[in-house]
Amino acid sequence: MNVPEIFGENVFNDVVMRSTLPLDVYRSLRNTIDAGETIDMTIADTVAKAMKDWALSKGATHYTHWFQPLTNLTAEKHDGFIEPAGGDSVIMRLTGKSLIVGEPDASSFPSGGSRATCAARGYTAWDPTSPAFVKDGTLYIPTIFVSYTGETLDKKSPLLKSMTAIDRAAKRLLKLFGIEALKVNTTVGPEQEYFLVDEEVYKKREDLVLTGRTLFGNPAPKGQELDDHYFGALKQRVSDFMKDLDETLWKYGILSKSKHNEAAPAQHELAPIFTNMNLAVDSNQLTMDLMKKVAQKHKLACLLHEKPFVGINGSGKHNNWSLSTTKLNLLDPGDHPEQNAMFMLILACVIKSVDKYQALLRACVASASNDHRLGGGEAPPAILSVYLGDELGEIVDSIVLGKNYVPHKSARGSIGVPESPIFPIDSTDRNRTSPFAFTGNKFEFRMLGSSASVADPNIVLNTIVAEAFQEAAEKLEKAEDFEPALKAYTEKLLKKHHRIIFNYNGYGPEWEAEAARRGLLNLKTTADAVAELFKKENVDVFVRQGVYTKNEAIARAKIQLENYVKNIRVEALTAIDMATKQIYPAVSSYSAKLCENLTAKKALFSSLPYLEEETLIKSLVCANENMMTAVKKLEADLADMPKDELEAAKRTAYVVVPDMEKVRKYADESEKLCAKEYWPFPTYYDLLFSVK
Ligand code: ADP
Ligand code: MG
Repeated sequence: MNVPEIFGENVFNDVVMRSTLPLDVYRSLRNTIDAGETIDMTIADTVAKAMKDWALSKGATHYTHWFQPLTNLTAEKHDGFIEPAGGDSVIMRLTGKSLIVGEPDASSFPSGGSRATCAARGYTAWDPTSPAFVKDGTLYIPTIFVSYTGETLDKKSPLLKSMTAIDRAAKRLLKLFGIEALKVNTTVGPEQEYFLVDEEVYKKREDLVLTGRTLFGNPAPKGQELDDHYFGALKQRVSDFMKDLDETLWKYGILSKSKHNEAAPAQHELAPIFTNMNLAVDSNQLTMDLMKKVAQKHKLACLLHEKPFVGINGSGKHNNWSLSTTKLNLLDPGDHPEQNAMFMLILACVIKSVDKYQALLRACVASASNDHRLGGGEAPPAILSVYLGDELGEIVDSIVLGKNYVPHKSARGSIGVPESPIFPIDSTDRNRTSPFAFTGNKFEFRMLGSSASVADPNIVLNTIVAEAFQEAAEKLEKAEDFEPALKAYTEKLLKKHHRIIFNYNGYGPEWEAEAARRGLLNLKTTADAVAELFKKENVDVFVRQGVYTKNEAIARAKIQLENYVKNIRVEALTAIDMATKQIYPAVSSYSAKLCENLTAKKALFSSLPYLEEETLIKSLVCANENMMTAVKKLEADLADMPKDELEAAKRTAYVVVPDMEKVRKYADESEKLCAKEYWPFPTYYDLLFSVK
């Protein structure tokens, strides 16, 4: 495989644009992409024609405005290029207008009550900063999605607005240090975890097909305790899948870089090289879509759910986030961070934002699926904190405590094997338990779930850090004597927000108590986290930074609650269905069979002991009966849901979820006792060890 040759072959990228567009049109488009200048509409026809001709050469017959409604998925409606050309002939056409705007019916997408269903008009508008591509015979044009009244109905619009906000604020901050940047880019590298199971086995599990996770099942006798899967040798089918996936992603210009087995059996990870945020978000959406498709080709099912199985790790999506100009990574501390006043100010601003808007960061990753993962002792806890590592931690401590900082000498290590090289030892170790860790020249936000859109956390990060930058700039621009004012301001921020820094084990129970003592939020469920979004200060920051209007912010919080309630409702109905139609009959048949056998045995050998057999039958009958009682309660509670979104979410979290756990508990008890041939669907062993 010639990677440089296939890379980006399905993308209308810079190379194609340069070779297919007139120079002035190309330059104008690049200005929009690189410097964020408003698109010049007069070039639309020319770009549309070039795009269409290129798409035709790739076998496309249709185009689609590809957008990201308020689900975690993308949406597309395909239109043919075909148009009648007189007589019986047709031509293939894409006009500038069709490239720029589309008008899909918006009524069936979540709007959080911001519009009535009858107000159906929605518009999609071309995003020239993310390249179009051809997939399955269609030209995909990345677009934003807004309503007739101008409210944003997608994740891309606020993402772009938040990128503008942080660009504006960061440039203003840099100016204080004499740096004139054309643009401050936000960069993202999302590491994607996932599970692979055999498709045939997967299809036999109604819960996996309908909800993405197992609602029943006991852990297999072997889990991840032997640490034998993490970074283990790839099984042939997995290796073939990964190879195919890489090749596919490269063709779409996605910089797929690392792949390996993860901690849990059947769990894996893919990490691309970081890129511009908008593109990284689009690419991750496309990656998730292609992962599922490529898996199907290999007769596998790719599970992106945050917690498909109990008892073993769930899947996250680490969001590596940084800021850079063409010359400089703003989060690069250099060799002597203690002397790098600009870096220390930027760091202090980030720390301040995370502390001040803990609730926003917690809420933006909150979902029914991620609730199973956060705080599970495998993913970060639900409490926000910042990890700085030894070196930066000591520098910040010295500032806060007013002590002198003595830099560590840079160490060089040898592992004592004469043939092996000497290597420099990093001044900072890693910490896997922190939700928000500084990792060299970027922050890694680890709370995001594997199935979620990367847009959400980045909208929040950009917005809150933009505000901190703006406040810093406003203050320091007025300073008469810059250097001392800068030092004092940085110090003030670090002192005020020091409580959010935690450089130790985030999994330990001590941390929860310590965090409570520090007054940090510990929002355990989506219902608790999203409730915070209605607070004035959490709405205002988005309004001030021009990312959401008040209505949009409130509508989005409501949609998040609605999605949460609906997702759990689907799970509950699936659990009821499986319990009633599969588990109950199976356990009933098995216990009846045992009774029949026992009666026969007793007739022949009345004096033999049958204690264990009788106990087994009784246990099965009781578990089955208890399960159905729990099902009845779950049904009743589902039928009794409050109208108000927040009330419904709270009831879901604190009544419906525990109800479902109860149903599961009794079903899992039966599974432990039931003969394999009677159990109605594949077990954890069948699922997790299905790929040979
Ligand atoms: P680890 O698992 O140790 O965190 P990985 O290599 O799996 O490391 O992932 C690190 C991710 O961070 C990659 O996607 C990488 O491209 C990304 N990254 C590196 N530098 C930056 C940066 N400046 N901005 C955003 N992401 C970055
Ligand atoms: Mg990582």
